[in-house]
Amino acid sequence: MTRKPGPPDLARLTRRDEIAHGLSAVTERMARACAAAGRDPAELTLVVVTKLHPVSDLRLLRELGVRDIGENRDQEASDKVDAAHAAGIAGLRVHFIGQLQTNKAGSVTRYADVVHSVDRPKLVRALDRGALAAGRRVGALVQVSLDERPDRGGAAPSAALDLAALVARSQSLDLLGVMAVAPHHGDPDPAFARLREVADEVRGQWPAATWVSAGMSADLEAAIAHGATHLRVGSAILGTRQPLR
Ligand SMILES: *Cc1c(COP(=O)(O)O)cnc(C)c1O
Repeated sequence: MTRKPGPPDLARLTRRDEIAHGLSAVTERMARACAAAGRDPAELTLVVVTKLHPVSDLRLLRELGVRDIGENRDQEASDKVDAAHAAGIAGLRVHFIGQLQTNKAGSVTRYADVVHSVDRPKLVRALDRGALAAGRRVGALVQVSLDERPDRGGAAPSAALDLAALVARSQSLDLLGVMAVAPHHGDPDPAFARLREVADEVRGQWPAATWVSAGMSADLEAAIAHGATHLRVGSAILGTRQPLR
């Protein structure tokens, strides 16, 4: 996105307007989808995905009342959360939503409040050790693969209950529910319907595991129709940015 050079405070005001506009557009879409599904918008939490966006956006988001932010790469997230603390930005809840290597678990558990992408036993054990070492409790969602593409992360639906049991038995992780990313192509409806079945099974055994993290900029209406409780929305609020590499 190009913008005419100007005094920094003007640029900041402009960016604040952009973000406020994106937030209200998304909030409106959520309200309409809730009305169509007969749901109460108060059941939904909007996690604003801030990957590729600077700390200055975190400050603007906080000023605009956003608490929940999502990041998908450990190095970027870790640097950004440190910078936010150093800049006095308080009250953020950090959601780690990306595929996670086991050797990064110890880093992520130092700053993340919830990890949405728990998809294998080894990662459960590494996150549990990390949270214990950091002296924190960390929320965990079992990521379910909905497209037979394990390379994109997520456990097969048939493996979700065993993984949830492992999280539930861990020392330092709280089992909060399930998460999924809809397949890139095609109709998100059957995918989110399948996720809801898995979510119901998990909640049947662990009643506190109520979260269904589903829905992004392109498919949040379908996710709401199928019972999502947590939406992960980036570009519809913050615009798009190219990765640095
Ligand atoms: C980037 C990302 C999102 C947000 O996607 P948008 O299309 O920008 O809303 C949600 N979930 C995950 C796992 C992501 O990596």
